[in-house]
Amino acid sequence: MSEASTAVIEPPAIVVVVGLGQMGLPMANRLIGAGFTVHGLDPTPAACAALEAKGGKAFADPAAAVDGAAAIITMLPNGKIVRDALLGAAGFARRLPRGTLIIDMSSSAPTETISLGAELEPLGLPLIDAPVSGGVKRAIDGSLAIMAGGPGRQVERGRAILEAMGKSVFPTGPLGSGHAMKALNNYVSAAGLIAASEALLVGRTFGLEPDTIIDVLNASTGRNNSTEVKMKQFVISESYASGFSLALMAKDLRIAADLAGHLKLDIPQIGAVADIWDEAKAALEGGADHTAIYRFLAKDAGGAG
Ligand code: NAD
Repeated sequence: MSEASTAVIEPPAIVVVVGLGQMGLPMANRLIGAGFTVHGLDPTPAACAALEAKGGKAFADPAAAVDGAAAIITMLPNGKIVRDALLGAAGFARRLPRGTLIIDMSSSAPTETISLGAELEPLGLPLIDAPVSGGVKRAIDGSLAIMAGGPGRQVERGRAILEAMGKSVFPTGPLGSGHAMKALNNYVSAAGLIAASEALLVGRTFGLEPDTIIDVLNASTGRNNSTEVKMKQFVISESYASGFSLALMAKDLRIAADLAGHLKLDIPQIGAVADIWDEAKAALEGGADHTAIYRFLAKDAGGAG
């Protein structure tokens, strides 16, 4: 094993963030705040400008971006795009020195992550999966929950990077286990959002005040993350602007359902929830926020919404 693949990565090492979207940009800003030298890669000019305004450096050319990097973070829509960025026709992984730590923080499919790790291994590139939970708000304040899969020594190498973005870092086991855990978390979260949305829909159709419904749930056993931080903020207000798209949630739920299928487990509710989200994605406008599931459920139920 080369020295590079055991050395702990600390500021001011160069960390490349690939994908400066709703999550990648605030996460990159946390790394800058912790003293890392942050290089960004994203085709969106506004995202690059926002990174530079905070002290990072945005690159159009991946080869220039990764020059001298100790670690590469991918924060991209899905695992196929991650693989393409690393190993596709224009991928930059083959340019990286052996030992460069690759951290996929996207919510990718665990089986694809395991395959990616096997492809990167002959290049001497260790991969860990470290997806996050907490949304844009917690990406901004650096309090994300991070679930980290992969060899323990590689998770430890990247710990200072992860701790700059998260309040808790949970080693979850071998490569892919973080991504499995993330999909399962989002299944529980999405099921909770559906339950809260349906309760709001039935309750307000019956004549209950929307705010009262949520206040009572939050003081009672029906409380969940959606009743606390989504229902009043994004659903009742009708802003539908949490910063997490419905399409990405649909992707996560299909990963959870596929994982159950891959393990030959017959878990009907996961498939049912994944189906509802896929139907909502087809029915709602492109770019809809995941909290707009309420609008879909209301229309589907024929209620007032
Ligand atoms: P986003 O769509 O806002 O951002 C994705 C970014 O990737 C965009 O800026 C896009 O231009 C860029 N991109 C696409 N292909 C690229 C490439 N080849 N090279 C460089 N940049 C590229 O998505 P997001 O909401 O930031 O989510 C990113 C990941 O994090 C997803 O896997 C998502 O499921 C997960 N996630 C999102 C949230 C949330 O609240 N938004 C929370 C937890 C996890």
